[in-house]
Amino acid sequence: MSPPSRRILLIFGTRPEAIKLFPVVRALAAVPGLEVRTCVTAQHRGLLDQVLAIAGLTPDVDLDLMEPGQTLEQLTARLLTGLGKVMDAEKPDRVIVQGDTATAMVGALAAYYRKVPVGHVEAGLRSGDIYQPWPEEVNRRIVAPIADQHFAPTETAAEALRRENIDPATIHVTGNTVIDALLATRAQIEVEPGMSAGLDPIAARFAGKRVVLVTTHRRENFGGGMEDIARALGRIADRDDTAILFPVHPNPNVVAVMDKLLGDRPNVARIEPLDYPHFIRALDLCDVVLSDSGGVQEEAPALGKPVLVMRETTERPEGVAAGTARLVGTDPKRIVSEISTLLDVPSAYSAMARAHNPFGDGHASERIAGIVANSFGLVA
Ligand code: UDP
Repeated sequence: MSPPSRRILLIFGTRPEAIKLFPVVRALAAVPGLEVRTCVTAQHRGLLDQVLAIAGLTPDVDLDLMEPGQTLEQLTARLLTGLGKVMDAEKPDRVIVQGDTATAMVGALAAYYRKVPVGHVEAGLRSGDIYQPWPEEVNRRIVAPIADQHFAPTETAAEALRRENIDPATIHVTGNTVIDALLATRAQIEVEPGMSAGLDPIAARFAGKRVVLVTTHRRENFGGGMEDIARALGRIADRDDTAILFPVHPNPNVVAVMDKLLGDRPNVARIEPLDYPHFIRALDLCDVVLSDSGGVQEEAPALGKPVLVMRETTERPEGVAAGTARLVGTDPKRIVSEISTLLDVPSAYSAMARAHNPFGDGHASERIAGIVANSFGLVA
């Protein structure tokens, strides 16, 4: 009789978690002796569903917890009750969470309350400022003392964990799984170009122009910061040789400001959030990325695209150190001047546009699956 399989429960709730965990789900599912279960909280319903559809993932449990206008404490309370019930029903041998969302933090806590071991994917990112990014910096710090497997994307992240006295034997530098997702999806698009054909009309419309791809959704930028970003985009759009491709995050704090201050212009495509293959195509076709996103800071360097980061600080210093990312904040003057330098000074552009993968080699998920398998005496 074969031994009973070990049950791994992966919990996630937002678009970036789904992107970064689908390769891990696949790698774990390939290990004989592991039973992989997935639970989505749907902290971000629409954006999460886009990724699930593309990744062909049907969650085993869907808590569907999103409610319009919910506060952080309402969300946290509902997550804790909901995830507690899921764990009582699922009885996992290990829980895996990703990154720094409320779902990741509460998933780890609910597992801890049941003494279920926790693996943390993308462990050890630190900005050093608990209000930037807020509340993500504290979310991820709370997971650290609970987890007994820390999958650090880089040596810098591993070092941050060691500084917090996390047992070095539990820290594994695996690379970031976002590079696995990026490379796998890009390869899929090559075989099936139809997967990203929705961008054909925009590619044709912007042919011959320099394209700036924009994403913004950080809470710290809501309000004055978002207005500054809109003003900067307006000035960039004053250039005839330049176009802005802007998949707008559905958060009303973003949409309302852009409606009011950016408006419609022939060289600005303000569009709905793109599904993952379309977003990768957008990264491929743009010249420069302007973003306050975490994941985009990791993907752009992998595709050799300079990324200007609209934040004062980053928990992903590797791109800045490699020279492919630069922190520019939200001051419109600074943003416009940095974009102009990149677009007008070829040497400045080529210095930043070097394809470089400081965040991983595309094999992080296999490493994670190997470590999880090993901990149960299994072989990946
Ligand atoms: N992304 C996407 N469609 C978009 C914008 C972004 O699929 O229209 C992907 C992007 O490739 C990256 C992830 O979403 O992998 C980043 O998510 P987000 O910026 O929402 O969150 P963060 O990474 O800042 O936590």
